Amino acid sequence: MSERNLLMIPGPTNVDPSVLRSMARPTLSHTSGAFANILKETLSGLAQIFQTSGTVLPLAGTGTLGAEVALSNIIEPGDKVLVISGGYFGDRLAEIAGNLGARVDKLEVPWGTVPLKDKVEKLLGAAQYKVMAAVHVDTSTGVANPAKDLASLANARGALFVLDSVCSMGGMDVQVDNWGIDVCFTGSQKALAVPPGLTIVSFNSRALEVRQKRRTPPASYYGDINRWMPILQDPTKYFATHAVNMVYALHESCNMILAESLQKRFIRHQKIASAMRAGLRGLGLKLLCEDQVASDTLTVAYYPSGVHDGEFRKTMTDDYGVTVAGELGPLKDKAFRVGHMGNVNRNDALATLSAIEGSLWKQGYKPEGGAGTLAANRVLSE
Ligand code: PLP
Repeated sequence: MSERNLLMIPGPTNVDPSVLRSMARPTLSHTSGAFANILKETLSGLAQIFQTSGTVLPLAGTGTLGAEVALSNIIEPGDKVLVISGGYFGDRLAEIAGNLGARVDKLEVPWGTVPLKDKVEKLLGAAQYKVMAAVHVDTSTGVANPAKDLASLANARGALFVLDSVCSMGGMDVQVDNWGIDVCFTGSQKALAVPPGLTIVSFNSRALEVRQKRRTPPASYYGDINRWMPILQDPTKYFATHAVNMVYALHESCNMILAESLQKRFIRHQKIASAMRAGLRGLGLKLLCEDQVASDTLTVAYYPSGVHDGEFRKTMTDDYGVTVAGELGPLKDKAFRVGHMGNVNRNDALATLSAIEGSLWKQGYKPEGGAGTLAANRVLSE
């Protein structure tokens, strides 16, 4: 029954069969007119999901490549960069900027919390930063950073704002143009509900201008937006081979997302996230972050004492067919992560809570039977 397993990790997420089927279509020439039309429609769909009239570039690779492409186009050695990090992926952004030769200052925010506006403002005022970068939802914590406020603080100081929206785009509102996000990137395998293998990076005109005015070429040859611009305008031209069948999948998924409508999709994610939090609390579990800063795409819960991470997750997968994720960094073995994004529905959330309850029982932690699903259902029926 492997096809009925539920993937409730924070990416990759459950892929709709129609998206999987689209990938089985014959591989077209990457410069054919037929493929060019599919790519153009995909670009238009992505622009709507990113809520931007800027340039959107899908590339073969994962979210980490997206970070490299985003930063390498606008950072030159010696540039000052401020990175806000409240988790594992914020730290990664700082490392990538450092590898590009930037002079990086990192504002470290305790895991589970968001940065204080005053602190960010003060830091931005203390030096001439060319770029400020942050993660919208750090997948190690499930905290949603105030991306809109951070963008406006960076904009006010003339710093380019880069947002890692790997764990939010397509599941939470990310208004690239309205909020002033100069460069934004995501991966295919999370709320876009496509298998892993693509990253998508958007650039606005300000970021493109910074790329044009560079004194040195970007560290990434493949990810140089200048090399892709002619292809984005006319996809029958060649720079590097598109991941043709992955683009079919992205095309199909963009169509599904837009057919649902962004607004309805965001509301679905919000509802399921609050039900998941209520359900986990109903089981007596402590969550990593407060509701006011919690993302709609994943939730992190601490284990009650005596529950063993590896055994708990093995029971979840082997006995219930539901996979949740372990933690990273300082939270490893102390907490687990439930992803609820992309195609997630109410059944998935309730089945997951039920599997969590059963797996906790097996470990000797015995909340009142049904307490998790009861609390979640109360929220879902509101
Ligand atoms: N940024 C965030 C917020 C992520 O959650 C991830 C992966 O989980 C990444 C970046 C890196 O993406 P990838 O694993 O696709 O390279």
